[in-house]
Amino acid sequence: MKVLVVGAGTMGHGIAEVCALSGFEVILCDINEDVLKNAMNRIVWSVRKLESKGKIKKSDEIIKKIKTTTDLANAAKEADFVIEAVVEKTEVKHEIFKILDENCRENVILSTNTSTIPITDIASVTGRKDRVVGLHFFNPPTLIKLVEIIKGEETCDETVKKTIEFARSIGMDYVLVEKDVPGFLINRINIRVFVEAIRLLEEGFKPEQIDASVKYRAGLPMGLFEVVDFSGVDTVYNVLQEVRKRGFEVVVPEMLENMVREGRLGMKTGKGFYEYSGFYARAKISKDLAYTINPIQILAPGINEAAWLIRNGIATREDIDKATVKGMGYPKGILDFADSYGLDRVVVVLETRKGKTGLKEYIPDPLLTEMKEKKKLGKKTGEGFYKWNYELLDFGPVRYEKRHNYAMITMRRPEKLNALNEEMWKGLTEAFRRAKEDKDVRAVVITGEGRAFCAGDDIAVMGSWKSFRDGVEFFDNVAMPLVDELANYDKPIIALVNGNAFGGGMELNMFFDIVIASEDASFSIPEGLIGAIPPLASSFGYALFGRKIAKYALTGDPMDPMEARELGLVDVIVPKQCLEDAGIEYVDKVCRVAPLAARAIKKSMNAVRQLYRNPLEIAGREIELLIPTEDFSEGMKAFVQKRRPEWKGK
Ligand code: NAD
Repeated sequence: MKVLVVGAGTMGHGIAEVCALSGFEVILCDINEDVLKNAMNRIVWSVRKLESKGKIKKSDEIIKKIKTTTDLANAAKEADFVIEAVVEKTEVKHEIFKILDENCRENVILSTNTSTIPITDIASVTGRKDRVVGLHFFNPPTLIKLVEIIKGEETCDETVKKTIEFARSIGMDYVLVEKDVPGFLINRINIRVFVEAIRLLEEGFKPEQIDASVKYRAGLPMGLFEVVDFSGVDTVYNVLQEVRKRGFEVVVPEMLENMVREGRLGMKTGKGFYEYSGFYARAKISKDLAYTINPIQILAPGINEAAWLIRNGIATREDIDKATVKGMGYPKGILDFADSYGLDRVVVVLETRKGKTGLKEYIPDPLLTEMKEKKKLGKKTGEGFYKWNYELLDFGPVRYEKRHNYAMITMRRPEKLNALNEEMWKGLTEAFRRAKEDKDVRAVVITGEGRAFCAGDDIAVMGSWKSFRDGVEFFDNVAMPLVDELANYDKPIIALVNGNAFGGGMELNMFFDIVIASEDASFSIPEGLIGAIPPLASSFGYALFGRKIAKYALTGDPMDPMEARELGLVDVIVPKQCLEDAGIEYVDKVCRVAPLAARAIKKSMNAVRQLYRNPLEIAGREIELLIPTEDFSEGMKAFVQKRRPEWKGK
């Protein structure tokens, strides 16, 4: 089979290479001999490089498969399949399609790589409107293994079927765009996300903040502004203008207009959203900025666009997610993101933006509002764009939610600052066991309802202990089962510390793998101030943090999240409004690790914990011995009466 590629520029030469690598004979046609020479040089360089890396063999044979020509009419006579990739000008494309139509055999499919011109318009100059189709590659086609196949108004099913077969035969996956809408699928979503990002800049955010959020939290391979600086600000601007002219409703941000006018076009001019000292210079994007804005804020308009595409029967949710992953490099589909963060959140973001800007673009698509009304909010209700495995159980004051691949455990005694009474200890034990037994659950997230994470052991319970036996029984039957469960837990645990974490509420965090604290969280182990001791911190904590913990155990001084991070207890500090999202993002991160590997890591770490079992038992025994002392009951009384205790040393 012979493929004719018309246009040997940025896209055409790459498409020709892909076809030759897949074993097809290729005719590469351009009006310009120099362009053809240049294209062949680039192809030869690229193919040889693949051979030197051992990825292909017989590079000479592959290169020989490509013939170049400036004679379109003659080339067309030989073609079995045509891909047009000339300049994005309607009159040029019309001219070429006329020649192709006149010279190609009757059944030959004419495809176009246009980004913005309607397929129907291009087809209109031919006598084979049913055999003209959009075949939209991405730059560079040698790396991005996805095409959009776009139906023009008259494209027939047979053409689509054959184009799909062809795409597959050159190693491309595809998404089907059922209607010839401006921007097709990917550019529509890209434009919405990018325009939102620029608007946020106009409102005072820095490019680094937006890029840090999407890179380090959402896991995109590059920041949005890095990509645009790389592709050229003018390129993106032109696409935007073109699709807008053709009916895509978007208000072009003034900042973008100014940049194009001032020649701040990105890497090629040394200045775009970032400044570049040399061609290979890269923007510096600090991870520290990642929590200044939530990714959902930036993605929401893209999700809204995706909802529009689905509702209008233009693309399926699966294709939209495939396009965002394979075409845009997202680590998961944009609709998967929507379901993870929650569709209620998406709608709130859009409505807030609508209120702030007055722009129609932000009106939530009816599909989104309908889903919100029907409580189809995503993973947290079991259904959103997709169906998810969901389970809700209450173990006393502990809520357990299976959200498909992770479990959300919430301590719910907000009026008592989630203090650990018997029901709470037992509820937590049961919830963690449930999550451990469920094979779908890959990670556990734990948090507290209300303003506290957990205020530690319930003093009312401790105050009721009269004898050594009471304490022993409580520790053996109520507290230790949870401690043992956590010390041997074989799945990653992520803690979202939303407020105060005192005593046992702080100490439990020593068993959690990733501790994310809200900026206003506070930690302390004040047990000594009431005549008791923090048993975990005094034993296991000493092994974990060294003598640094002594200061806090021996004074009961509170720690802010920065001090807790310095101690080694907290890993990430985020503003309160980022806490839940940060947890969701860390679930994604730990789920990228192979499940068996995660289990092996946990088991190995647990083995180290076991080394400190003896000190923990000693600490447990020490607290039991304190219970019958006068100082312990004085400490309990003083705490309840909110006065300073008077220690007797007995
Ligand atoms: P380009 O300017 O690099 O290449 C266009 C080529 O077309 C030039 O080599 C030019 O000499 C040639 N040409 C012009 N008139 C011709 C004619 N009458 N006959 C034969 N050749 C002719 O452009 P490009 O970036 O490769 O874009 C080509 C097409 O691909 C456009 O439709 C564009 O919208 C689309 N596209 C571009 C990208 C991208 O990232 N560059 C991505 C997807 C799709």
